[in-house]
Amino acid sequence: MNHYQDTYKHKGQRRQLRELLSSKGITDQVVLNAIDSLPRHFFLPIEFESHAYEDKAFPIAAGQTISQPYTVAYQSQLLSLKPGSKVLEIGTGSGYQAAVLQLCGAEVYSIERHQILSDSAAALLKVLGLTQRMHLFVGDGTKGLMSHAPYDAIIVTAGAPSVPKTLVSQLKPGGHLVIPVGKQAESQKMVRITKVNDKDIKTEVYDDFSFVPLVGENGWK
Ligand code: SAM
Repeated sequence: MNHYQDTYKHKGQRRQLRELLSSKGITDQVVLNAIDSLPRHFFLPIEFESHAYEDKAFPIAAGQTISQPYTVAYQSQLLSLKPGSKVLEIGTGSGYQAAVLQLCGAEVYSIERHQILSDSAAALLKVLGLTQRMHLFVGDGTKGLMSHAPYDAIIVTAGAPSVPKTLVSQLKPGGHLVIPVGKQAESQKMVRITKVNDKDIKTEVYDDFSFVPLVGENGWK
């Protein structure tokens, strides 16, 4: 079967995934609608297609992962997006999270350190017709993306040893940075930093997660 076919079976599996995410505490209907409408099986290597709607992370190229749907929903919900929000994602990976953000109405800037992942995400987002309001970059996202700052929200989809100050500086006042932070490379707490004004920030600490490491100048070396 063509990998890019979205069948009734896939749609049914997505409906069940949506119900599972609701039962785990995701309440943002815009986020749930986005996950419900996006064929996650397109973003996985073909051998994992039959598992695409399980709530699990899976390997992608370059030794990286596509995040678990619950994690994608959890981080997206914490961003408190509004239609037209300008969002920077660090860690494009498969492009799935970027697509969810776009379907939530955001203007997405996404940066990835592996060229091969950025290229395959770009090709897939084109297949899905999600190229408007989508801007992909290759580079070290721990430095943010100054050329298009400031952002309403920044989402980091890899585990950081600490919160890079550069990212906070690229937020608009009132903006949120959602980032998994942990002193060990394999376990993090989800943290939401709100830039209250140019001097003050508010920090909220949420649940435990496990991400691949954020590697770069302001991340793991
Ligand atoms: N958001 C992705 C998705 O939906 O498939 C999942 C990303 S995976 C968990 C984390 C990604 O962050 C990997 O693709 C990794 O290469 C990338 N990454 C790690 N450090 C980075 C950095 N400094 N700048 C940009 N990307 C980085």
